[in-house]
Amino acid sequence: MRLRVVMTWKDHTLPSRSILAIFAHPDDESFCAGTLARYVSEGASVGLVCATRGEVGEISDPALATPETLPQVREAELRCATRAIGIDDPIFLDYRDSGMAGTPENQHPDAFINIDPELVTGKLVRIIRERKPEVVITFDETGGYGHPDHIAVWRHTHAAVEAAADGGRFTDAGEPWQVSRIAYGVFPRSFFMRMREKLVELGEDTTDLDEFFEMGLGFDDDQIDVTIDVADYLDRKFAATDCHKTQFGGDNNFFAKVGEEELRRMMSREYFVIGWPARAADDSGMRDSLLD
Ligand SMILES: [Zn+2]
Repeated sequence: MRLRVVMTWKDHTLPSRSILAIFAHPDDESFCAGTLARYVSEGASVGLVCATRGEVGEISDPALATPETLPQVREAELRCATRAIGIDDPIFLDYRDSGMAGTPENQHPDAFINIDPELVTGKLVRIIRERKPEVVITFDETGGYGHPDHIAVWRHTHAAVEAAADGGRFTDAGEPWQVSRIAYGVFPRSFFMRMREKLVELGEDTTDLDEFFEMGLGFDDDQIDVTIDVADYLDRKFAATDCHKTQFGGDNNFFAKVGEEELRRMMSREYFVIGWPARAADDSGMRDSLLD
């Protein structure tokens, strides 16, 4: 009887299945919102870290925000999105958006890219040790399309996952925790090729998409390690995306142009590359889950 009590207590302290997404700006989570919604529905603990409040992002409609109010507005938009997805409130690291590469915002002393890496790593280590994720989702080394904050998040996430497991580092930031894998949320090139075909069919201008291809961004289909079916979570995904109203607009919103049916088809899968640990040489298996 005593043993049984002890076992119950032990079971209770085992970490539940846990996923932590680490991104740079409110709305970065949009492309994996279906995955986050699916895992939280399946009983996992799902957290979201956002390094900045996207304070130098665009404002689609001046009625929504001014440059001064944009941080508060975008924080509220992200809280709206996490509620729509059904996950915990976002954890902000409270750094400043560094802006697109080559803009004056890059020089701001509080810009995320200018922060001492050890400070960022320390904050992330504390969060990782508290939340004990099996899987950490973040950007790949290109940051998706080269945004300096996205690339910084990729770098800091790797450093923090390594440091979180090392009992000799950040000793006041909780017990060591070993993350099982880092997954990059990505798009296969075939995703954009299909989108381009659809837009051409519809007679839309694809110049900006062509630039994307010229930059060589995206991944080949055979580089994709995990594909998550999120068809049953599309409504939550769209509701979450819909929260980021300051980020709508622009003529290059291809997603809005492909039509509802095609959009639902394209958005019903989310794609990941396992960034760490390296895939074993004899492992060519495509997976349909991020967790074991
Ligand atoms: Zn971003």
